Amino acid sequence: MELELMLDVKKIRKDFPILNRTVNGKPLIYFDNAATSQTPKQVIDVIVDYYSNYNANIHRGVHTLSQEATDAYEQARIKIQKHFNAKHPYEIIYTAGTTDSINLVASGFSSLLKKGDEILVSALEHHSNIVPWQMLSERTGAILKVIPMNEDGDLILSEFDDLLNNKTKLVFVNHISNALGTINPIEYMIEKAHAIGAAVLVDGAQSCPHLKPDVQALDVDFYVCSAHKICGPTGVGMLYGKEEWLNKLPPYQGGGEMIAEVTFEKTTYAGLPHKYEAGTPNVSGGIAFGAALDYMNSIGFDAIAKYEHELLEYATEQLKQIEGLKIYGTAKEKTSVISFNVSSIHPYDIGTILDKMGIAVRTGHHCAQPIMDFYKIPGTIRASFMFYNTKEEIDTFITALKKAVMMLS
Ligand SMILES: *Cc1c(COP(=O)(O)O)cnc(C)c1O
Repeated sequence: MELELMLDVKKIRKDFPILNRTVNGKPLIYFDNAATSQTPKQVIDVIVDYYSNYNANIHRGVHTLSQEATDAYEQARIKIQKHFNAKHPYEIIYTAGTTDSINLVASGFSSLLKKGDEILVSALEHHSNIVPWQMLSERTGAILKVIPMNEDGDLILSEFDDLLNNKTKLVFVNHISNALGTINPIEYMIEKAHAIGAAVLVDGAQSCPHLKPDVQALDVDFYVCSAHKICGPTGVGMLYGKEEWLNKLPPYQGGGEMIAEVTFEKTTYAGLPHKYEAGTPNVSGGIAFGAALDYMNSIGFDAIAKYEHELLEYATEQLKQIEGLKIYGTAKEKTSVISFNVSSIHPYDIGTILDKMGIAVRTGHHCAQPIMDFYKIPGTIRASFMFYNTKEEIDTFITALKKAVMMLS
């Protein structure tokens, strides 16, 4: 089947107003999707509708606007629950995003860990799935150990097996690496971790745009993501936690909404999910998060995955033809992220020239400095594709890249 026919990409592109703009006089080619995805008008409209028609604080008003806003916000929570196949809506906690969700869990474990406990982090993590655990380790005296990776960008599972022992309390791993695109074998890792009684947090920031995780089938303890990487707005995300864990961890922040009763002597906390949702939340963001999942599901994750995989293979083949170009991250299981360098040209210089030609790629360490240290490089150029990108855009990118390389060498 012709590539673009798997999805009606022409039609899909019309949903994204930003894809019509020009940058430096050239049509925008947006290949920085792993940093943030673009927003379809179906989601933008939901935000505009909220502020135009029913903006109100939620959960406390008896008036109509407040009730409409509360209903929409809680309906969105149910959409998120269904999407991830959580058992209960109250196992979905609204947060400000992946980073916020991870910090919530890390903060909660402060009171559950003791000196000498061990926590495992993968070598492939984003800084937001490293630093909160380092801080937790400093607070508690728990020892942070690293699951190493190999040259292809795969985690070395035999070493993971060896690291697990009866002192291991927690394992954190991303479902998909934002720097290399590696899809990690989280099913295996969860099973192994559970066998010795450790809990697992999976950072799904990079997987949720490309696949549909089933948290019950995975039997994962915590799963986190950000809406802005799934065609939703910035500043909102979610934490899925198993009910037993969410009941066990203490609240993260104190404030309004999260209490049952407050006196100066003692405060009792609200039940799930409100225990973790202090203060006025990002109401429009939560509602738009639900709309973004509706939008993605209307296209269908099977079609998305298939199409993006074709884009990945097409771009990889063409990049390999360029002399001196090295791709970092050659795992067998990968999503549509390609990290590369050309000879010894600095990634920043190539990125700057590509921008002059209207092409947005990311350059640098991608918030994953340990991976760059592993390869002994300062950073890479990263092109990451979503279902609204096309083969023609890749062709233009390859031509522009060759031009940039010629100018710089
Ligand atoms: C983007 C990303 C994060 C951080 O997400 P925020 O929305 O910035 O909190 C964490 N982990 C991975 C794998 C990511 O891709």
